[in-house]
Amino acid sequence: MPPPVPSPSSRRVAVIGAGAAGLVAARELRREGHEVVVFEKNNQVGGIWVYTPDSEPDPMSLDPTRKLVHTSLYASLRTNLPRESMGFQEYPFTPRPDEGETRDPRRFPGHREVLLYLQDYAREFGVEEMVRFEREVVRVRFTAEGRNWEVRSRSGGKLDDENYDAVVVCNGHYTEPRVAEIPGIDSWRGKQMHSHNYRTPEPFQDQVVVVIGGHASAADISREIALVAKEVHLASWSVADETYGKMPAYHNIYQHSMIESAHEDGSLSFRNGKVVLADVILHCTGYKYRFPFLDTHSIVTVDDNRVGPLYKQVFPPKLAPWLSFVGLPWKVIPFPLFELQSKWIAGALSGRITLPSKEEMTEDVKAYYQELEASNIPKRYTHCLDLDQFEYNDWLAAQCGSSGSEQWRKKMYVATRENRKLRPETYREEWGDHDSVSEAYKDFSRY
Ligand code: FAD
Repeated sequence: MPPPVPSPSSRRVAVIGAGAAGLVAARELRREGHEVVVFEKNNQVGGIWVYTPDSEPDPMSLDPTRKLVHTSLYASLRTNLPRESMGFQEYPFTPRPDEGETRDPRRFPGHREVLLYLQDYAREFGVEEMVRFEREVVRVRFTAEGRNWEVRSRSGGKLDDENYDAVVVCNGHYTEPRVAEIPGIDSWRGKQMHSHNYRTPEPFQDQVVVVIGGHASAADISREIALVAKEVHLASWSVADETYGKMPAYHNIYQHSMIESAHEDGSLSFRNGKVVLADVILHCTGYKYRFPFLDTHSIVTVDDNRVGPLYKQVFPPKLAPWLSFVGLPWKVIPFPLFELQSKWIAGALSGRITLPSKEEMTEDVKAYYQELEASNIPKRYTHCLDLDQFEYNDWLAAQCGSSGSEQWRKKMYVATRENRKLRPETYREEWGDHDSVSEAYKDFSRY
């Protein structure tokens, strides 16, 4: 596809990262007529979906000088969303015929299928030709009131500085671990690991493992480890303090409330009063937003995992539309949300879409933060949208003049959530939302 001829409203835009967010941002920006350069530190597209058996040398990923591994996938990972709902609106994630590569046609496929899908997407829309591989962005700063951005990147040992009109940040947020604070942990003698560095269960053979966390990774990993470990104890904040019990269908997984303290003799006390002598604590406790390259003179900060201030999760009011972020929301269906955010950014940069004034955007952000505070929602949940994602997507779509979330996608998200609760072990094989699947495929026939 020949690149469009730049129009007067065409901007020179730097996109940081070629994961799902960077790929769709690049496509939508170029479609709008912008000149796009994507910086990617890896040697291929796909971001988090580029699996490697390598993990970081520091199992807790606390050493700031450690060699970073970007992905947090484990070998056996299958998607936790059905593929119909996961795909971009304009590029459905349907099973593909094997063409030299074995494809995974399952509704909840393994991680490699997602990587192949993203590679297909990049090829289909000529995104790869915009990507500079093995080029890490090490500094981004603005000059002239945010209208001119200096991007410093490194490839090999060589640094390059270039100027852009705008920067779109798509660097992902599943690489820098958040770790649970446990009183007494410094003198505890066991091993600790963050799920970022978990790949396979073998190292846990015959061990007593305490897994902290209440989300998808904790559920999947604890079940996998239980196949080889002596015992697995799940510790969670999201259950009542008195919670204790064996998990149905497992002889060696126990559900507890959160750990209260760790002791020198290797034992861990839980809030439910139980004490367990454990070999390992595995922290499935999530990740931190981090933008080590971004210098905005503190206009954008990260405070208790709130990246802000950001208008509608995307634009810092003072620097809009010249700086934007794609992909911050979590507990969402990521790809179609990234797609709508990207369309909005592309249109705002060309001037086709008008943003409110800086003051109005600032007021909107303040009101959103006040709303969270009034509902006692901690800052770290600022980007957690869950069911609100659909209203958010529809709002974005209205700004862009495109279609919002399809009814079937909403229904599928809710049905999968319920099914996962009901059948935690088998939700990827048994489901009841056949009507939504049929509706989705009817819709896909348009593309
Ligand atoms: P990433 O995929 O992380 O991509 C960021 C890219 O930026 C990377 O390629 C990185 O190398 C590059 N980069 C970073 N910093 C720089 C720099 N300074 N210079 C140059 N390049 C840089 N989503 C689903 O839809 N379904 C699922 O089932 C699902 N399961 C998940 C399971 C796990 C364990 C995790 C961690 C996430 C899961 N997700 C799932 C969410 C997933 O993260 C998103 O789907 C999405 O892939 C994130 O894309 P991204 O582009 O925002 O970030």
